[in-house]
Amino acid sequence: MLRRFRPYFRYLKSNRGTLFAAIFYGLLFGATNGLGLPLLIKYVFPVIFDRSGPHAMPMGDVVLIAATVPMLFLLRAVTSFLNSYYVQLTGVRILEGVRLDYFRKLQVLPLSFLQKESSGDLLSRGIADSAQLQSTLTLIANDGVKQPMALLGALGFLVWQAFTTDGAMTVLVCLAIVPLAVLPVHYVGKKVVHRARQVQDQLGDVSAQLNENLSAAREVRAFGLEQRETERFGQATHRLITAQMKVVKYAQALTPAIELISAVGIAATLIFAYYAGVKLETFLAIITALYLCYEPIKKLGYLNSELNRGAASLGRLEYVLDEPVTITDPAAPATVRRLRGDIMFDRVSFAYGDSPALRNIAARIPAGTVCALVGPSGAGKSTFANLVPRFYEAAAGAVTIDGIDVRQMRLADLRRNIALVSQEPVLFNDTIYNNLLLGDVTAAREAVLTASRAAHAHEFIEQLPQGYDTIVGERGALLSGGQKQRIAIARAFLRQAPILILDEATSALDSDSEAAVQDALRQLVAGKTVLIIAHRFSTIRDASMILVFDQGEIVAQGDHASLYAANALYKSLYDRQTGTT
Ligand code: ADP
Repeated sequence: MLRRFRPYFRYLKSNRGTLFAAIFYGLLFGATNGLGLPLLIKYVFPVIFDRSGPHAMPMGDVVLIAATVPMLFLLRAVTSFLNSYYVQLTGVRILEGVRLDYFRKLQVLPLSFLQKESSGDLLSRGIADSAQLQSTLTLIANDGVKQPMALLGALGFLVWQAFTTDGAMTVLVCLAIVPLAVLPVHYVGKKVVHRARQVQDQLGDVSAQLNENLSAAREVRAFGLEQRETERFGQATHRLITAQMKVVKYAQALTPAIELISAVGIAATLIFAYYAGVKLETFLAIITALYLCYEPIKKLGYLNSELNRGAASLGRLEYVLDEPVTITDPAAPATVRRLRGDIMFDRVSFAYGDSPALRNIAARIPAGTVCALVGPSGAGKSTFANLVPRFYEAAAGAVTIDGIDVRQMRLADLRRNIALVSQEPVLFNDTIYNNLLLGDVTAAREAVLTASRAAHAHEFIEQLPQGYDTIVGERGALLSGGQKQRIAIARAFLRQAPILILDEATSALDSDSEAAVQDALRQLVAGKTVLIIAHRFSTIRDASMILVFDQGEIVAQGDHASLYAANALYKSLYDRQTGTT
């Protein structure tokens, strides 16, 4: 079981100092705890209760002897505090490491993986499972050393007593109880691992539903789904607590089981002690040592079930951490600076899982062409566009730009040459200025303002109370659709990339915004290779090249006039659009 965690001890490595401090104080604590009290009872207290002589001990000596108790507990308290403090410190640092690694991985995973998984569940893995792993690793690091030492201390005392006092038999009986007390630990551990995995899965479920619900707040109200959503969430939380209670059942049965076995041990010891004529202080010291054995066993039992819980969470984290990053930089990348933007699809096929989305696509979009991608919904237009920045990897064939396979370029080089304006641009919860700057983080303020003017964004930004320093709210919630789009266009201006991918908004904007956006776009596309996932006839008609998609294939290609005359699908799409727009 421990082997499972081995790769993750690297998180401990960088925190060696704090960990050693934790263990050092832990050992001190264990020694104080396991050995100190029995020693006091056996050797110090009897001095006070020795009634054989007269009361001749000076007051100072009596106080001194009595003071050993608080002194012992002071040492115990200080070491316990320092131990816990350093353990927690190691723990939070581990958590930081795990979370950062997890986050880093999320940045590079293929989009297809992220689309497949529920974001709420990915959230839960990053928050709840990494926290579980933290608590497990710290517990191993701490109790894994400390408790066996405490156990050894107490056992050592028992063995020592066995050899130095009469009634060795009694001691041996006590010792026999120790392995017995370990049995329930073993049994419970096996039960917990499976249940713990269920708990974390259910937690992911709850988190996924919460996340989904929050992102669909408008739909919930519009369709009157409040009741249904609450019921669904109620069921998920109920499944969670059912799973949690199963873990609780096993984990909580452990302590009473160990205690019961220990009680039987004490009874047996009493019987033996009576017949062996053991003295009270010897008996008490042995019982105390026995009790101090039981404490670490209990903790080790807990450690064991915690290990199992940790293993379950680790499994869920590794599901993401071990997911292969399929889209990576090539070993020997081609030198790429500024591309011209001559895009070619050479017999490209692509499938999401088993369902093919593009079949044997061949197309050439010469540099500087404005190319509209047209076709019914689901025909493969977005997939086609997404293959250019290598968001997905072609299953067969190759996508080349200026004759260089995109797989031979560094991802950063490739993507620096591409600007993206999506249907619903995402803004970060930051100032407008910083959101614009994302187009090119090295840009000077003057360049940002120029881009903003070109995108017709400057006017409305100036009118906001804080101008460019206005915070836009989560996902840009404080701006209108048209404003967000103009910011996205300004970003694309700033990027000055030779290739532009434009996912045209389907939803109509208010006419002022619409005119501004259209004008901004017209300027933006000038001189670039542009792929437009087009929904508007005006855009389509203005494009110098049109690719017609149907069921994953390009079924026709040409300009508006020739396609309208020769292609039935194009004609019907166009007529439908002009009829409704
Ligand atoms: P369009 O942009 O023309 O509407 P898409 O390229 O989005 O079409 O989709 C092409 C096909 O691939 C469709 O059948 C769609 O259902 C499927 N598809 C798109 N995205 C995914 C995805 N992330 N996972 C699985 N299937 C997808």
